[in-house]
Amino acid sequence: MTTPADTSPASPISTDVLIIGAGPVGLFAAFEAGVIGLSSHIVDNIERVGGQCIELYPDKPIYDIPALPVCTARELVDRLLEQCRPFEPPIHLGHRVETVERQENGRWLARTDKGLTFDAAAILIAAGNGSFVPQRLPLEEAVQLEGRHVHYSVPNVDAFAGKNVIVAGGGDSALDWALALRTVARHVTLVHRRNGFSATDSSVASMRRAVEAGEMDFVVGSIASLSAPNGQLESVEIRHAEGSSPLAADYLLVLFGLVADLGPIAHWGFEVQGGRIKVDTSNYESTCPGIFAAGDIAGYPNKQKLILSGFHEASLALRKAYTYAFPEKKRVHVHSSYDAKLAERVAASHA
Ligand SMILES: Cc1cc2nc3c(=O)[nH]c(=O)nc-3n(C[C@H](O)[C@H](O)[C@H](O)COP(=O)(O)OP(=O)(O)OC[C@H]3O[C@@H](n4cnc5c(N)ncnc54)[C@H](O)[C@@H]3O)c2cc1C
Repeated sequence: MTTPADTSPASPISTDVLIIGAGPVGLFAAFEAGVIGLSSHIVDNIERVGGQCIELYPDKPIYDIPALPVCTARELVDRLLEQCRPFEPPIHLGHRVETVERQENGRWLARTDKGLTFDAAAILIAAGNGSFVPQRLPLEEAVQLEGRHVHYSVPNVDAFAGKNVIVAGGGDSALDWALALRTVARHVTLVHRRNGFSATDSSVASMRRAVEAGEMDFVVGSIASLSAPNGQLESVEIRHAEGSSPLAADYLLVLFGLVADLGPIAHWGFEVQGGRIKVDTSNYESTCPGIFAAGDIAGYPNKQKLILSGFHEASLALRKAYTYAFPEKKRVHVHSSYDAKLAERVAASHA
């Protein structure tokens, strides 16, 4: 549904709201913006929509989205895209927003690294952890193998079918993926530097049960080097207390966690605390009037980094954003169930 974006760097694109981040919260925000009569454009620095859901756990089930007892992260993103389709928000992928400046007329001018500019009445930042990057393996030979034999996320489970897979890491992602892949791969070995984990107790218990049942292995050690003659990974050298030994592997999945980097966002003039944008919880506005934050990037006491929290935050933020886009108008609240225009748009988008 991605509406082809205007790629002309010359003229600023005018919009009521610029949404920074095409994760689940940014996508839902585009729908909510449309519902209350705001135009929006979405920008994301990566080439796909979906944020963490698609980059980190596309095939994992999510159980805590209201009225959706279970869906995979990918399915959730597909549904969010379908939900905002009636408003056709243009989505500009592969653009990182670098600067945001207030203009003399009170509107905002945002620029991307590739020269796109946006002239917006308000900005909603739904940038998650900022420009996040996985913590990489500090081995030169891993760079050549990245995306082929060394992976930092699981874009497609089927690629591991019938293969020897080493999963490195001790957090939830590492344990959950090791458990999930054992049903697909020929053999899975979890490698972690100690026999203690930062993963939840239930994941650790499931992993230990699977090891006892002979469904996978667990090795205490660290990745010392990779052997890949002719560019094909054959084995991984594991350093452990007694020395080191090779372990046959077709794929190495490294899940050491993400390095959160706010990147340029930290310099846009609002208050940032602990890597999060400080917001007023009555409207999720930052300390810069007209700039809002929702989703994982929003910081306030008792913040829960959950998708449903982000949906709520975006919804309230946009209601305040409306007052910047249309200062002369009083917005009348209409429940979606009674919104005839919305019903028409939704019907038209399914026609
Ligand atoms: C393994 C795992 C399992 C999880 N399971 C659940 C669960 O079961 N239930 C639940 O509610 N939550 C879960 N979460 C958390 C959930 O995924 C996050 O709360 C959610 O993704 C936050 O959404 P977001 O839209 O705020 O940010 P993100 O999903 O992080 O998306 C932010 C987007 O902003 C983009 N961006 C950042 N900076 C810029 C910039 N300057 N310019 C342009 N684009 C930018 C990024 O590229 C990214 O695509 C899980 C998280 C993980 C890692």
